[in-house]
Amino acid sequence: MSFVIEPPQTPSLPVVGTEDRFPIRRIFCVGRNYAAHAREMGNDPDREPPFFFMKPADAVAHDGDVIPFPPETNDLHHEGELVVALGKGGVDIDPSDALAHVWGYAAGIDLTRRDVQAVAKSMSRPWDLSKGFDNSAVIGPIHPANDVGGMNAGTLRLTVNGEERQNGDLADMIWPTPDVIAFLSRSVELAPGDLIMTGTPAGVSQLVPGDRVVVEIAGLSDLTVEIGA
Ligand code: MN
Repeated sequence: MSFVIEPPQTPSLPVVGTEDRFPIRRIFCVGRNYAAHAREMGNDPDREPPFFFMKPADAVAHDGDVIPFPPETNDLHHEGELVVALGKGGVDIDPSDALAHVWGYAAGIDLTRRDVQAVAKSMSRPWDLSKGFDNSAVIGPIHPANDVGGMNAGTLRLTVNGEERQNGDLADMIWPTPDVIAFLSRSVELAPGDLIMTGTPAGVSQLVPGDRVVVEIAGLSDLTVEIGA
């Protein structure tokens, strides 16, 4: 058997302290997982069940990248987020067992074409092209869970050109990581290599060409990218 075209390479992330890479299978994202961000987007932050959207695995961009300013938007937004990397899959995972499925954690940015998303929301259209465009999943190096624990609390801070735009705490997630994994595993069979971007705290704002964006999460490596022309 041979492929009729060259098969794509497996997207991957560096693992801190090694030459090894973490292969990416799928990228799931949680919407509105911090009450103050839900409010700033005009939604009621009551504890409604989490909802999910996706980015393609090859939409990943890396620490140190210069990300070309994406087409079809005049309102590119940053969303600083904790990223969870699964080492083990499953269905109907119990929250009490969920962290045993986590291989590691990284800092991330869910880049969003906010203007495209606003049109999608108003016309009840899908979010794919407002959230899942090229380089839209910015993710730093992965820290093994064995080294950093459950990452259930700690500061998440995002700066643009040194100016603070987002400052939240992982403890303020409406649905903590074990609950997110449990909910998702009721909808799909999770698999090793799946990533989950766990949502963003308040303070999302616009990025323009030349901006330098840094995400700092207590216990993890900083993630730094520049928005190019
Ligand atoms: Mn997000």
